[in-house]
Amino acid sequence: IILKDSYNQMIESVNKHQLELLELNQELDEKIKSRTHDLELAKEKAELLAYKDPLTHLYNRRAFFKYGQKLINQTAQHSASLSLIMIDIDFFKKLNDNYSHALGDQALIAFADTLTGNLRHNDILGRLGGEEFAVFLPNTDEENAITIAETLRILISQITLQHEDAIVQFTASLGVVEATQATPTVDSILAQADEALYYSKHNGRNRVTAYSMIVETTQ
Ligand code: GH3
Ligand code: MG
Ligand code: MG
Repeated sequence: IILKDSYNQMIESVNKHQLELLELNQELDEKIKSRTHDLELAKEKAELLAYKDPLTHLYNRRAFFKYGQKLINQTAQHSASLSLIMIDIDFFKKLNDNYSHALGDQALIAFADTLTGNLRHNDILGRLGGEEFAVFLPNTDEENAITIAETLRILISQITLQHEDAIVQFTASLGVVEATQATPTVDSILAQADEALYYSKHNGRNRVTAYSMIVETTQ
């Protein structure tokens, strides 16, 4: 009987330990899950900081170059079309000076929201710096890109901001270019778009110029 009792006690104690072990394991599991979740959140936050412009929430220059290059490479592989529009706000310095830097910021946010709301999900829109933006349009030839640019130009000119009693409006100049074998990098496409944009600026602003137009007229 003594032997049986002590045997039962032993079994009981083993069972109890097993239960404790199970509970500990579960606790550990929960802890790992929660830590992993925290880590994922922190990683997401860091990625967002690295890729997004804090004011407009658009891709920053670095992200724009990264995703843009990816798109250029994919386009070349599938011999699809790809265009780019570069946009610079007209007389933005005056907007800051005449109203306030805060209003300038508001203009940038409204501008970014207007573009975001009127582009497709797979278009790649970024803030290159200051009041200069660019968007890659996949599966879009020059003719269609010009139409899109013209629509954006009009939408931008229709943005209205309020500053004290004044209604504030502004315009932008745009440069359009279709990617070719001569533009295998983001830099090379931007250089052509910049030339077209420069042409828009020097021909009255608030207009769209395609790179092919200036190449034709200067040759
Ligand atoms: P243009 O028509 O030739 O483009 O003239 P502009 O005045 O737009 O061009 P310029 O490059 O001379 O001025 C750009 C201004 O943008 C200067 C700078 O103070 C302002 N700017 C750059 N980043 C920001 C920003 O984040 N917020 C505000 N409010 N202003 C900014
Ligand atoms: Mg400007
Ligand atoms: Mg500028």
